[in-house]
Parts: sequence; structure tokens; C-alpha cells
Amino acid sequence: MNLIRRLISSHCLFYRVTGLYCPGCGGKRSVYLLFHGHPLLSLWYHPLVLYGIGVLLYYSICLGRRLLSRSSTEKSIATWPLWGAVILLAGNVLLKNILLVAFHITPLSSHIY
Ligand SMILES: [Zn+2]
Repeated sequence: MNLIRRLISSHCLFYRVTGLYCPGCGGKRSVYLLFHGHPLLSLWYHPLVLYGIGVLLYYSICLGRRLLSRSSTEKSIATWPLWGAVILLAGNVLLKNILLVAFHITPLSSHIY
């Protein structure tokens, strides 16, 4: 268990070199927290994890409905969830780095374990 916590709380190469968060920072902690019953903290550490689960469910439902309907009119699958993910990813990394650089707040600190 100690190894898992060390692995999760370790920072990525980009952070170690630049001192800034990359778009993936917080992802491991987010997954860890989600599986340990802390969805709100998971959302804070990396909102793309919960959003990604929602998008996967959405696409699964769309695909299931398409397969079951067997209609001849093929509707294309919406791309807005993917654009939403890009916007969420950019907004998340911007917010975390603004908090870090401008306010000296470390939003991805690992003191919660
Ligand atoms: Zn990173």
C-alpha cells in the first residue's frame, strides 16, 4: 500500500523540470480518490476522470441505441463530448497553474492520504 501511495503522490517529469502542472497532473490521484469513495475530491484533482466516465457511458448508450434500432438513417455520433474534454482539460491545467504561480497555492498537494 505504501508503494501505491508513493507512486500516486509522485510528480511527473514535466512538473519536476518546469515546476508547472501538465494537463495530466492529478490524474492518478483522481482515479485513486474515485476508487476510494471520494468523488468530489476526485473531481478537484482531475475533472477529466469523472467527465471521461460520463462520456464513455454516453457513447455506450448511443452505440447501443444505434445497434438496437437498425434504422437505415445513420446519424453520426456527436463530437461535442470530445470538444468538452479538450476545453475541460485546458481549463483545468490553466486554473491549477494560475493557483500555483499567482497565489502560491498547491492545488495538487498530496497531504490528503
Ligand atoms: Zn504532470
